[in-house]
Amino acid sequence: MARKLKGIAAARGVAIAPIVHFHAALDHIPTWKVAEADVGGEKARLSGAIAGVTTSLLDLQRELAGSLGNQDVRIYDAQVAILHDPTFRRDVEAEIEQRKVNLEVALQRVVARYEQVFAAMENPAMRERAADVRDIGRQLVGALLATEQQKYTANGSDYLFAADEFLPSDAGLLDRAHIRGIVTQHGGKYSHGAILARSLGIPAVVGIDQVMLESVTGTLAIVDGDAGIVILDPSPADLDEYERRLREQRAIDRRIAEVRFQPSVTPDGVPVQLFANVEGVRDLDALEVEAIAGIGLFRTEFAFMERRQFPTENEQVAMYRRAMETSRGKPVTFRTLDVGGDKPLGYFTMPDERNPVLGWRGIRLCLDWPDILYSQMRAILRASALGHARILLPMITSRSEVVRCREVLDQLTADLKATGVAFDPRIELGVMVEVPVLVPVLPDGLPVTDFLSVGTNDLVQYLLAVDRDNQRVAKMYDPFHPGVLRVLQQIAAAANAAGKSVSICGEIAGDHWFTPFLVGLGYRELSMAPVFVPRVKLMLRSFTLGECQDLATRAVAMQSTRDVRRLVQDEIQSRWVRQLGASEDSRR
Ligand code: PEP
Ligand code: MG
Repeated sequence: MARKLKGIAAARGVAIAPIVHFHAALDHIPTWKVAEADVGGEKARLSGAIAGVTTSLLDLQRELAGSLGNQDVRIYDAQVAILHDPTFRRDVEAEIEQRKVNLEVALQRVVARYEQVFAAMENPAMRERAADVRDIGRQLVGALLATEQQKYTANGSDYLFAADEFLPSDAGLLDRAHIRGIVTQHGGKYSHGAILARSLGIPAVVGIDQVMLESVTGTLAIVDGDAGIVILDPSPADLDEYERRLREQRAIDRRIAEVRFQPSVTPDGVPVQLFANVEGVRDLDALEVEAIAGIGLFRTEFAFMERRQFPTENEQVAMYRRAMETSRGKPVTFRTLDVGGDKPLGYFTMPDERNPVLGWRGIRLCLDWPDILYSQMRAILRASALGHARILLPMITSRSEVVRCREVLDQLTADLKATGVAFDPRIELGVMVEVPVLVPVLPDGLPVTDFLSVGTNDLVQYLLAVDRDNQRVAKMYDPFHPGVLRVLQQIAAAANAAGKSVSICGEIAGDHWFTPFLVGLGYRELSMAPVFVPRVKLMLRSFTLGECQDLATRAVAMQSTRDVRRLVQDEIQSRWVRQLGASEDSRR
């Protein structure tokens, strides 16, 4: 009889296949006493294991680079950073020296201690580090014991991977041709394993009872990564329903592949430009510039955060030039350094703030340390000679901040001109709209601003007073709130009335269910992680401007988030699925 297990939806999509349960191979480790004379030998084994695991992590990162977004590929950088953390190494060595235990035992103890510390942390992102430390421990011990890494395959048939958890290093062991879904006991929606599953397009449900999973190896099951459900021994009716959904999913994927290089216009010919968000030079390598209108948001802070000291002006010029060359004449919007809040700079001492998200971040910090702003803007100006560059200012709260930045820009352009250095004199200066108070005063600020870009990630967090990184209130972080839609409407109206270009560069720009609303509210530029561009384009090509406007008008007038979500479900989702079905039928 069918059994339905409720878990947490971690990666969208559905899958049908038998469950195969995999055990972590390293439950048992050898234990021995180490003589004083052998302590050095154990430390040398540690160096060897760290070097070996680093190489395999970097190999894995390279192997997955084509399938994962740049941000996700960085998960492996974080693991390498733990491996090379001097404190971690010192702690393991101290364990060997003081307790005279072998390296495997020392690692097990230190990893368990770190895990506990991370698991007790308030910040959910830090709590996730516990899984990374566990993964590092497992890989090190695996390397020491020269354990053949267990490949997760089901002898060439399709399967659902089941285990107590899915860790970043597991991604390299999956049989990518046959893995259909992932089911685990541990992990959350934001765990690294879940992020990787999403990036690899594998439906996943986490939070399912381990004992149950172990006992059902070989059982046919359905993973519903949209609803967070696993159905064991599905009934014929369940199978009918989910096979239909699988067909739908495949139809969407096929249509997405077809529209990849088609124009991004509504069916009645209204163009909406789709730009890419990038986070550093590595993103540039993977960019398919033919499929986008340009780079709508270059989050320059990530390049600063990866380093051990501030990049020099020349180093910055080289990086910005890479972006300009990659975009081949299409616009590149460089956001000035947006550190602070949840983005610390290791080599720059930040104050201990009670509310860092409301604190010294973005432009506030740069205006207090104008050297940073000067060298960055100068570097962008020098790179601008290669094409069409724009400068975007984060966390702007008032017109006067924009005026001060413009003064810096004017001074820099005058200097460059005087010294004969090439730059684009038409370079534009824009403002991120992410601090709510800016919205009512936009008409005052627009004369000193060339363009706007709405940072809905922060704007929504400030409008709803819900921390975007706090899992406890994550359910309340809902951009479909009619109040948010009304604010978005106000911003578009103010910008359009002043004839200034306005884009959205927060996550909602890449959420295809949002697309008809955004177009209906008056947005004609959306900037998103490149992976979302094809799906958003497909959506855009499905609704006329009139339909988008009608949907947006109705949503804005609604009284609750639930009503807006129902509208999405009843009219956007269902209509889209019907259209896809029709296009599939016409193929037959
Ligand atoms: C935003 O706030 O929407 C945004 C794009 O900036 P970030 O996510 O980098 O804060
Ligand atoms: Mg922001």
